[in-house]
Amino acid sequence: MRHLRYSRSGHQQREARRAARAVPPELVRRAGIILAAVALPTLVALLAPREVEPAPVHTTVALTPAAHAPAPPAATPAAPPAAPPPPPALERVQGALADGEALSTALQRHGVGANDTSDLVRALKDHVDMRGLRAGASFTVVWRPVVTGARELVRMELATHSGEGVPRTVVVEREDAPITQPELGALFLARHEDAPIETKLEGLSGTVRSSLYQSMLESGEEALLVNKFVDVFAWNVDFYRQTQRGDAWRVIVEKRFAGGRFLGYGKVLAAEYVNAGSVHRGFLFDAADGKHRGTYDDEGNALQRTFLKNPMEIARVTSSYGMRFHPVLGKNKQHQGVDYGAAIGTPVWSVADGVVKEARWSKTAGNMIVLAHMNGITTEYFHLSKFAEGIKPGMRVQQKQLIGAVGNTGMSTGPHLHFGMLRGGAHVDPAQQKFPNAKPIPKEYRDELGRFVAPLLAQLRALDRA
Ligand SMILES: [Zn+2]
Repeated sequence: MRHLRYSRSGHQQREARRAARAVPPELVRRAGIILAAVALPTLVALLAPREVEPAPVHTTVALTPAAHAPAPPAATPAAPPAAPPPPPALERVQGALADGEALSTALQRHGVGANDTSDLVRALKDHVDMRGLRAGASFTVVWRPVVTGARELVRMELATHSGEGVPRTVVVEREDAPITQPELGALFLARHEDAPIETKLEGLSGTVRSSLYQSMLESGEEALLVNKFVDVFAWNVDFYRQTQRGDAWRVIVEKRFAGGRFLGYGKVLAAEYVNAGSVHRGFLFDAADGKHRGTYDDEGNALQRTFLKNPMEIARVTSSYGMRFHPVLGKNKQHQGVDYGAAIGTPVWSVADGVVKEARWSKTAGNMIVLAHMNGITTEYFHLSKFAEGIKPGMRVQQKQLIGAVGNTGMSTGPHLHFGMLRGGAHVDPAQQKFPNAKPIPKEYRDELGRFVAPLLAQLRALDRA
C-alpha cells in the first residue's frame, strides 16, 4: 500500500472530502450494521485487525496547490513479503477535559496537531453536543508510526453521553482514501454507541410524616415521581390540603437506566394512596390496540373527573400560605378560597373545561381570571403575574390548560395564587365538592383491564410500607 499525503487548500480539501464521502457509504453502512449487532468491546475488537495489518509504507509528498502533479501511476504495492512484518507499536494517550476547556484545546494539549484537531471536531459534531461536554469528559487518542519517523493519528474515542444522559462512546477513525484516489488523502469517520437502556419495574412505598413530597424524597426518589404519582389522583385527592400524617403510599413505576445510571421515571402503572383511612387506587391502562387509555380503579371506574383538585403542580407549592386573617385589609375576613404559596411564574392551569368570563386587572385581586364551567360553577384565579397567551373573555379553555402564572399583584403580601370556586354565585369549598366521573371502562376493554390490574394489585399489596 502506498499512501500519499498532499497539502491542499481548505476548499480543495472540502471538495475532496465531499467526493470521498460519496465513496464510503458502504463503509458507513457496514459500521452501522456492526454497531447495531455487537456491543462496543466486541466492536473495538472487530476493528482491531487494522492495527495488525502490515505497516503501510508512507511517502510524504508535499505539493503546493498550484503544482498539482498527477498521482504517480507506478504507485503499485511492492511484492508481498513472505512473512508480514511485526505490527507497528501504537501510541495511546488518554486525556480529559479540564474545567471550562474546549475539546479542541484539550486535544492539542495532548499532542494532536491543529489540522487533525479540526478534522476530528468536524467528524464529531454529528455525534456529540460539543457545548454539552463537561470537565472530566475523557478521551483516548491513538497514533501509529509512519516511516519518516513521524506518527499519524488513526483513532480517537470520546466518552460522553446523549442529550438524555445515556452513556455514549464516540469513535472517530481515520479512513484512508481508496488506493485509486490517493489524492483524497484521509478522512475521519465518526460513529457512536450508546449504552442500552433498561426499563425496570419497581415497587415503592412509604408513610407520610410531613408531606408526600418529603416522604418520597426520604425514600430516595426524585421530585418527578411525586408529580407522576399526584397526577394519578389529580381528580380525587387534594394533596395540598387533605394530606395527613400517617397517610401511606405505594407505587409501581417504570425506572429507566443506562450504563448503571438512573435516567428517569417511565410510566406509573399503579398507585395507591391511603388518605385519612380511605384507600384510593389508580391503574394507568393503555389498551393493546392503542385506541383507549385511561386511569381506573380496580373495579374499572374511571378516576378522571370533570374538575381537578388543584390548579397547579402540587410539588411547586412552597408553603401553606393559607391564612384566615387578611393581612392587608387588617381585619378578619371570611376567606373565600385556597391560597397556594408558590414562586412567581409557576404555571397555573384551569381545573376544568370552560370559558373565560373575566381576565382583567383589579385593585384587590391584581391580574385576575374567572372561568365559567358546567353546572353553574365558576373558578377564580387571583394575583397572577401574567395571563397565558390568548386568554381573554369568551375564550374556551380545557382542563389543565395553562391560563397564567403565579404572581404577587393586587392586595397580596407574597407570591401566591388565590383560587376560589363558586356554585350558583356563592363561594364554596372546592375540597368538599363532588364532581361527575368520566365514563367507566368501555365494555370491550373490561377483560383486558382486569388482566392488567390483577397482577399489579397483587404487587401493590405485597409492598411493605417503610
Ligand atoms: Zn386568598
